[in-house]
Amino acid sequence: MSQALYVHVPFCRSICFYCDFCHVGYNKQVVDAWLSALAKQLKQTNIEAAKIDTIYLGGGTPNCLDADQLELLLQLLRPYSQHVKEYTIEINAEAMDESKYQLLKKYGINRVSIGLEATDGNMLKLLNRKASFEDVKECIYSFIAVGIDNISVDLLYSLPFQTTADFMRDIDLTVSLPIKHVSIYALTIEENTFFGRQGFKPQDDETEADMYLQAIAKLEAAGFKQYEISNFAKEGYQSLHNLHYWHFDDFYGIGPGASGKLDHRLYDNVKDVKAYIQDPLKQDFICFKDKEEEMFEHIMMNLRLIDGIDATAFKERYDVDIFDHYHDVIDQLKEKNLLKQEGNYLRCTKEGFPLLNTILTYFL
Ligand code: SF4
Repeated sequence: MSQALYVHVPFCRSICFYCDFCHVGYNKQVVDAWLSALAKQLKQTNIEAAKIDTIYLGGGTPNCLDADQLELLLQLLRPYSQHVKEYTIEINAEAMDESKYQLLKKYGINRVSIGLEATDGNMLKLLNRKASFEDVKECIYSFIAVGIDNISVDLLYSLPFQTTADFMRDIDLTVSLPIKHVSIYALTIEENTFFGRQGFKPQDDETEADMYLQAIAKLEAAGFKQYEISNFAKEGYQSLHNLHYWHFDDFYGIGPGASGKLDHRLYDNVKDVKAYIQDPLKQDFICFKDKEEEMFEHIMMNLRLIDGIDATAFKERYDVDIFDHYHDVIDQLKEKNLLKQEGNYLRCTKEGFPLLNTILTYFL
C-alpha cells in the first residue's frame, strides 16, 4: 500500500494572532540545528521510499527558511520524492522570492497550498497576516510561470467582526484566481493565542453555519466540488496527501509536533522545538485500546469525506462487515436522515454533514 510523508517545519517570520499551531519565530541558528535533527530522524526512521506517493511540507511556514536552508531540506527529502505523485509545500506569499520559485520547481514540488485567510486589508491586519490579496495573486502567477499550477488557497471564516457578506466577498475574489483547490476553516479561538488573551470571539453558531452553507453553494457554482467537510477542488485536483489521512491510511510524521500512523499505532513527535533538536527520536506512541477503537477512528475520518466509508475497504482492513456490525446505529441514523447507504458506501446526508460530531457519538 502506498504511504504518505508529512514533514513539519515549525518556523514563522511573524505570528498570526489566532494561531495555535506548532510554531516558533525564525532564527537562523535554530533552523540549522533543526535541519540536523530532521536529518537524524529521517535516517533513523525506516521509511520505505518506494512506497511514498505523497509528501507534504507543512508548518509553520516552510518557505520562511532562507534559500540555502530550503534547498538543504529539499535535498534531505530527495530520496523519498522519487516516486511521488504529489509533493506539496505550504507557503506564505510574503516569504517567497525569485530563487525560491525556481528551487521548488527544481526539486519536484508540484502542489502549493497558500495561506490567504481573508482578502480585506483591515481584516488581514487584525489577524496579523502580512500578505495582501494582491501579493497572493502575484505569487500564484509566479508559480504558474515556473510550471506549478496545482495551487490551493486557504480561507478562514467566522472571524471577529466578519459578516456573511464579507466572507462571500472573500470567496468571490478567491474563485477568480487561477487555482485548483480551496480550503475553508471556521476560526476557533484558543486561550493561549493573542486573540484568546484579548477575549476575541468567533461568530455565533447560526452565523457560522450560514457562512459555511453559502460558501459551499458559491464554491460549487464556481466549479470547486466539495469532497470533504472543509475542502473543495476542481475535477482531478483533490489533495492526494490529505486523502491518505481521511482514508485512515498509514503515514510518516517527521519534525517537531508531527504525528504519524504505522502498523495500527499512532505516534506524536515531541512538540517543543528545543527538545526535538536535542532528541528527534523522542515520540509518544498511542496504541488503540482494541479493534473497536481503531474502527471508530477509521469511521470518524472517513465520514469527513463526501464519499463516506467504503465498506469493501473496511472489510478488507478489519474483517468486519460495517453494515452488519453497526446495523442498529446505522438504522437509527438513516431514520433521522443523517446517514445514507449508496451501493457499497455509507455516507452522511446533506443534513447529516454539519452534524458529524453528533453522528459520531452514536458509533462510540
Ligand atoms: S503563518 Fe501559519 S503557522 Fe505561522 S503563525 Fe501564521 S497561521 Fe500560524
